[in-house]
Amino acid sequence: EKLSGKEIRETFLKFFEDKGHTRVKSSPLIPHNDPTLLFTNAGMVQFKDYFLGKEVPPFKRATSCQKCMRAGGKHNDLENVGKTGRHHTFFEMLGNFSFGDYFKKEAIEFAWELVTKVFKLPEERLYVSVYEKDDEAFEIWNKHIGIPENKIFKLGEKDNFWAMGDTGPCGPCSEIYFDRGEEFACGENCGIGKCDCDRYLEIWNLVFMQFERDEKGNLSPLAKPSIDTGMGLERIASVLQNVPSNYETDLLFPLVKWASDLSKIPYGKSEEKDVSMRVIADHLRALTFLIADGVLPSNEGRGYVLRRIIRRASRHGRLLGIEKPFLFEGVDVVSEIMGDVYPEVSENLDFIKRVTLKEEERFSKTLEKGIFLLQEVVESVKEKGEKTIPGEEVFRLYDTYGFPVDLIMEVANDENLNVDIEGFEKLLKEQRERARKSWKGGVQKVIDPEIQKLSEEKPTEFVGYDTLSTKATVT
Ligand code: ATP
Ligand code: MG
Ligand code: MG
Ligand code: MG
Repeated sequence: EKLSGKEIRETFLKFFEDKGHTRVKSSPLIPHNDPTLLFTNAGMVQFKDYFLGKEVPPFKRATSCQKCMRAGGKHNDLENVGKTGRHHTFFEMLGNFSFGDYFKKEAIEFAWELVTKVFKLPEERLYVSVYEKDDEAFEIWNKHIGIPENKIFKLGEKDNFWAMGDTGPCGPCSEIYFDRGEEFACGENCGIGKCDCDRYLEIWNLVFMQFERDEKGNLSPLAKPSIDTGMGLERIASVLQNVPSNYETDLLFPLVKWASDLSKIPYGKSEEKDVSMRVIADHLRALTFLIADGVLPSNEGRGYVLRRIIRRASRHGRLLGIEKPFLFEGVDVVSEIMGDVYPEVSENLDFIKRVTLKEEERFSKTLEKGIFLLQEVVESVKEKGEKTIPGEEVFRLYDTYGFPVDLIMEVANDENLNVDIEGFEKLLKEQRERARKSWKGGVQKVIDPEIQKLSEEKPTEFVGYDTLSTKATVT
């Protein structure tokens, strides 16, 4: 019998509890008191000060299933969603941690035991990677565990030196991959360290926390080398449930199916439509958990990421022919799948739905207004006898009004005009760089007064960055 997502989560946590780890609750998506980070992007975030030696941990070993968001900042998978089968914006990361207790050898032993003995993955389909300068890890895999040399890949910084952000704890890492089979190969040059396709699926990253990076980029060794690991729950579920991607696991498929039923478009018939259904499934989870953790749609920082996610999901709904607000109803499905494990969702269900609906309505108005403004741009381009909509105009519509670029392309096409996409992308890139550099945390700025009012009625008080103590919550 195949393990359900819930059983996999529990099996992992229990395995490490039995090995002396304390089970710690997921922290919120908004990191406590850490302006360097937009969202919690890994299991280690809530333990950052333990690694840095700024706080004494109440336990030497911990295990958790952490809510993560990778949409903005150093780890940003927003654009990957829907395109790959393995990336989400919101996902759950299983992890085990050692705070100056065990190090490389035990971490590798534990991981190998869980993967091959408990999850029973066939060894012949497993591969590993190590940081190219980490001979110690190579030796442990090769001599101690017995992985043949040709199945251990030595990779550079990009893949095998992990860092939470531009500053903070970091270190070399070692990853475990599962070969999903030749039918998933992307072509001639498919392979670990060579391509970025889903065939050799990275399931687990073992980070050997050894350094702290400062603002200038300098590394200094940590007093106590530690362990931080991360395994994507949805990814291991796709392997154990033997399905082609994360989206067919029991953790996500009900959402895909819901989008398919609502649009009356079958899943698996057209790649384009499938992408839209996957984006909706992913973004529904993201918006639900963001709002549950106290983020409200706004014009900057975290609130802006939420707004973009809601708009992107609405846009994909339109691509499936769904014109009315619909996402707010999908929140129920998220709650059915995850509400028992994450009470912040079930307890705030009505609130989350109302905020979502408001933002969907607001986006509809934006679209109407945008169409009008775009028409003005089109007229003026034509009046000048030109054939191209300038990149600056596209950027203005996109940035100020949140108008989707693909809609601009469509309209331009109807009008026999070109779009200066390169110019637009250049401006977008510059703006992202600016935003990345200037983001210093803080509160959301412009929040719709109606949503603000709603938030005053929120049933569960948000325990975000103002009130939460740095102490991890033990369940
Ligand atoms: P990839 O190379 O596939 O983008 P990564 O190396 O960026 O993954 P890590 O930062 O090492 O990922 O995170 C640890 C683990 O979390 C990964 O091994 C994977 O199982 C999972 N994971 C990472 N990013 C995502 C995501 N966007 N969605 C779902 N799971 C993820
Ligand atoms: Mg990645
Ligand atoms: Mg990777
Ligand atoms: Mg990795």
